[in-house]
Amino acid sequence: METSQAARGRAPADAPLETDYLVVGAGAMGMAFVDSLLSEQPEAQVLMVDRQHRPGGHWNHAYPWVRLHQPSAWYGVASRELGSVDKDTLGLNAGLYRMATGTEVLTHFEQVMQQRFLPSGRVRWLPMTDYQRGADGTHRVVSHVGSQARTVRVRRRLVDATQLRPEVPSTHPPRYARSPGVSCIPVNELVSTPRAYARYTVVGSGKTGIDACLWLLEHGVAPAQIRWIMPRDAWMLDRANYQPGLENFERNMTHLADQFGAIAEAGTPAAVFARLEATGALLRLDPTVEPTMYRCCTVTQDELTALRTITDVVRLGRLRAIEPTRLELDRGSLPAVADTLYIDCSAAGIKPMPRLPVFDGERINLLLVRVCQPLFSAALIAYVESHVDGDAARNAMCAAVPIPEVPRDWIVMWALTLANTAQWAQHEGLSAWLRNCRLNSNAVMARGVTPDDQPRLALLAQVSALAQQAGARVPALLAMPS
Ligand SMILES: Cc1cc2nc3c(=O)[nH]c(=O)nc-3n(C[C@H](O)[C@H](O)[C@H](O)COP(=O)(O)OP(=O)(O)OC[C@H]3O[C@@H](n4cnc5c(N)ncnc54)[C@H](O)[C@@H]3O)c2cc1C
Repeated sequence: METSQAARGRAPADAPLETDYLVVGAGAMGMAFVDSLLSEQPEAQVLMVDRQHRPGGHWNHAYPWVRLHQPSAWYGVASRELGSVDKDTLGLNAGLYRMATGTEVLTHFEQVMQQRFLPSGRVRWLPMTDYQRGADGTHRVVSHVGSQARTVRVRRRLVDATQLRPEVPSTHPPRYARSPGVSCIPVNELVSTPRAYARYTVVGSGKTGIDACLWLLEHGVAPAQIRWIMPRDAWMLDRANYQPGLENFERNMTHLADQFGAIAEAGTPAAVFARLEATGALLRLDPTVEPTMYRCCTVTQDELTALRTITDVVRLGRLRAIEPTRLELDRGSLPAVADTLYIDCSAAGIKPMPRLPVFDGERINLLLVRVCQPLFSAALIAYVESHVDGDAARNAMCAAVPIPEVPRDWIVMWALTLANTAQWAQHEGLSAWLRNCRLNSNAVMARGVTPDDQPRLALLAQVSALAQQAGARVPALLAMPS
């Protein structure tokens, strides 16, 4: 007797799957890409897989008080707003637009999946499922729950939405040794410490380390109780220069003009950074320490003031070991203080991207195509995939912009961003898309400028002229030693 599912008109559970696009990774990048693809290719079928149980990628592992680093106005997917567009009235971000919490970000992506992707009938979603590439090039998806392995026939492209591989402390244990008896926790556990400690040592100088220091200060820990292990000082961005709302237009555009002016007119890379600091485009914790890191990290002036109250800042390189009475670092050792809680914030965050083209034969690698804007980049790549013919033409407008690591990368990022932007302006459809896309921070910042608003249009024209001059100047600047 025929009892197979096939006989009843359904494919057997292990039958090969078929799709136009197989998207590996339902983190922020994968979600932004698929959202844009559904709008731009009304017929495309998508299979999304992720080894996690819900969309949102690294946000599923974030510390409980995490928030976006930039306003919610241009984060999430293009087809719907993320949370409410209002300003903080309390705390160290007061006066600036809200940044969604981790929970809000996860809710946004879950709603996009449940209310847009799945009801479209064009997206099939396999959570708790690993993607594997067979030695013969076949695509396989393996469920963690049912253990079924199925092959996938991909009609158009494999979309790799795992390339940025952010590292967060809860999933990446510290690389330094910890002696037994030392109290050392990942930053996520700070909210569940059962008692107060005499001293707190924050390990890591990235955005997570900053957030841990601010959390301690906001919860009444005295600055003198905090030690901050700072392997590298960073240049940081003033969040007030990245705000939606017409009331911020002049400030945002002046900030852009300052940056392009610095590239176009300063004589050397060092002079560029001196000018960026003088105009307030870049900030540093300690004016006497030259930053050696740049990671697109944003702070407010109030946050900076609070961070500067911490004076026990250890600048001896990376931590190698915490022993009961000593700390070993790259460039020396220090006595350990009794009854200290060590808070690990040393994970790399977003790591340098592999050197790959975005459009890569049968694959699309979701990489950045504009400075520090991953979700916008993913959405734009979906547009270009849908409306531009041939990978050579597509890659010509989507040169991969590296994740920055050192200050010089600030210039590299702008060089590639300006080159891409010049290409985008040549494409009529893409220009229209850029004007309307909510993930395009430049368009959001200029929203509401009317055709008769001459002063603002003049400022926009000035920014555009400086951008062209900056684009022409960067090759010479990058040819110089740092
Ligand atoms: C704390 C923090 C705050 C941030 N704030 C901002 C901000 O304000 N604005 C902004 O623009 N950006 C911000 N970013 C960056 C941005 O949110 C994203 O982190 C970035 O784009 C990386 O997301 P992703 O989707 O590329 O990677 P991930 O979040 O890592 O998603 C990749 C997914 O792929 C899955 N996966 C990997 N390999 C496989 C496999 N073989 N099979 C199946 N699944 C697989 C993983 O499970 C994961 O869910 C922030 C980042 C951090 C860490």
